[in-house]
Amino acid sequence: MLEINPPRKVYDVCIVGSGAGGGTAAKVLTEGGLNVVMLEAGPRLDPDRDFKEHMWPYQLPHRGVGIGGRQRGIGDEFMAPNGFWDIEGEPYTTAPGSSFRWFRSRIEGGRTNHWGRIALRFGPADFRPHSTDGIGDDWPITYEELAPYYDKVESYIGVFGSKENVPNAPDGVFMPPPKPRCTETLIKKACDQLHITCIPSRLAILTKPLNGRDACHYCAQCGRGCRTASNFSSSQVMIPPAAATGRFTMIANAMARKIVVNDTGKAEAVSYIDKTTRTEQRVYAKTVVVAGSACESARLLLNSRSPGFPNGIANSSGVVGRYLTDSVGSDLAGYFPQLENMPIHNHDGVGAMHMYMPWWRVGKKNEFLRGYHIEFGGGRDMPGVGGFEYVCDEHEGYGVSLKQKCRSMYGTFIGFSGRGEMIPNENCYCEIDPEVKDKWGIPVLRFHWQWGENERKMAADMQQTFRSIIETAGGTVIAGTRRHPQKAAAGESNALVQQPGGRISQGGAIIHELGTIRMGNDPKTSALNKNCQAHDVKNLFVADAAPFVSNPDKNPTLSIMALSWKTSDYILDQAKKGEL
Ligand SMILES: Cc1cc2nc3c(=O)[nH]c(=O)nc-3n(C[C@H](O)[C@H](O)[C@H](O)COP(=O)(O)OP(=O)(O)OC[C@H]3O[C@@H](n4cnc5c(N)ncnc54)[C@H](O)[C@@H]3O)c2cc1C
Ligand code: SF4
Repeated sequence: MLEINPPRKVYDVCIVGSGAGGGTAAKVLTEGGLNVVMLEAGPRLDPDRDFKEHMWPYQLPHRGVGIGGRQRGIGDEFMAPNGFWDIEGEPYTTAPGSSFRWFRSRIEGGRTNHWGRIALRFGPADFRPHSTDGIGDDWPITYEELAPYYDKVESYIGVFGSKENVPNAPDGVFMPPPKPRCTETLIKKACDQLHITCIPSRLAILTKPLNGRDACHYCAQCGRGCRTASNFSSSQVMIPPAAATGRFTMIANAMARKIVVNDTGKAEAVSYIDKTTRTEQRVYAKTVVVAGSACESARLLLNSRSPGFPNGIANSSGVVGRYLTDSVGSDLAGYFPQLENMPIHNHDGVGAMHMYMPWWRVGKKNEFLRGYHIEFGGGRDMPGVGGFEYVCDEHEGYGVSLKQKCRSMYGTFIGFSGRGEMIPNENCYCEIDPEVKDKWGIPVLRFHWQWGENERKMAADMQQTFRSIIETAGGTVIAGTRRHPQKAAAGESNALVQQPGGRISQGGAIIHELGTIRMGNDPKTSALNKNCQAHDVKNLFVADAAPFVSNPDKNPTLSIMALSWKTSDYILDQAKKGEL
């Protein structure tokens, strides 16, 4: 008897990954009328169950200090869920002589459940590095082309800030910023003396209600999630409007393994591992948008080999995995005796800094190219869970005298972090490890990493600047970091590597990895065109930080969303014209 198979369901678009890039694409494409299926390697997120921002330490296992009395750091049970430096059964490797760290979040919303919400636009010069100083490559798009999309993203997600006209740090569509706190005022005064620009931060946190989301109530615990969705996460802000269109299907716990092409070389399906049944499945779509985060996306493309694409799909140029960069990071902290024994006062605020220093030496002659900005924090705000870890290591005694010492010292530390531009170099890239596979049988990434001389000089300059700010503000330098001044003072240096003249972060440690599927006008030297569309496969797009041509000092996520929105508008236009 003739067997009749039901017609296969073909979606308009399959998006891989639900983070900043994938979430934005889902919202724009579904609202534009397309039927979208999304593959997400992690589970669905339920803020009421998963977020812990209002739980007290005594409500948590081990009272908020991890097993063995030591927190594991970001991503443990006290932070937003399912994100960490290591994922059980899903390793990555580093080449001999290289050191690289890779923070992944396997959950709806990806790392936007964890990020610091620092939302800075790239500036006009950031899109033209080669034209500015002759090194690296210009982007195939300009700031002016992306600016309307920054406007759209900021207006939709809510970003606070102030209009300042700082060169190459463009103002945006801002909500009012929160007031500076005592420690921020102290540091601003020192910066004024040193002629370092210090202005209100720009963070994706609501200071006024927006689209049904409440304004921030200043619990200062953003790293543990936000049930009122007052800060931005893709899971709470991008996915719900996509779902509300009725044109959105999310397949959770689905790890994309390979993009499948048809006889004409166009993408026609994505093959994935259903983690709950441990079986291989396939979804069909007219267009594929890859947004698994820069390195996961490169991994997926490199693993998508076929006779027509022996080096991985969209990789005839050989650049996929190359041009990997992270921000240059360096930290230092100060102890400020004038803050000791301060009366208890209200130091409430958002879960990050209220002020920051944009790069203030634009156009000046420096020892290095490009620039960095400074993030800082400290003071008597609501301590995070585990925030007193290491304090007891510093003081003798126990009981009342120990408590008094801890109280008098609490809030007397301020930490500084520099975030600077790394110039791509040929020693930094990721590739498929020829031997190691993850527990799903998917070949893993192997990282190669070496900082260049420019980055080392920049990190040394950061250290000098931090020192002069601390001393001008009446403090004493200690070897701490912004997030954990006391912890680092007690000997932990938060993944910083000692080098002559200062300390520089490990590759990947700043969690701004990008550039691995770069865009450009020339198909010989880039994988994507200016619309983030593969030169080789016209119905394949990339919508995370992989297409970025450079890694300016500004944190990348706002730009990921702006570029994803622009790419999605282009897909809508092409779909309407029947071009995909
Ligand atoms: C602690 C922390 C602080 C940060 N602070 C800031 C900050 O202040 N400002 C800033 O700009 N950036 C910050 N970042 C970086 C920011 O989180 C990322 O730039 C951003 O989330 C990247 O978005 P994305 O869409 O590329 O990827 P992600 O947000 O990582 O999302 C990728 C998603 O894809 C899924 N996925 C991956 N591979 C597959 C696959 N093969 N199949 C199916 N699904 C897959 C993942 O499970 C994940 O959900 C921070 C990050 C962390 C962890
Ligand atoms: S500080 Fe504001 S945005 Fe952050 S978790 Fe608390 S309420 Fe939410």
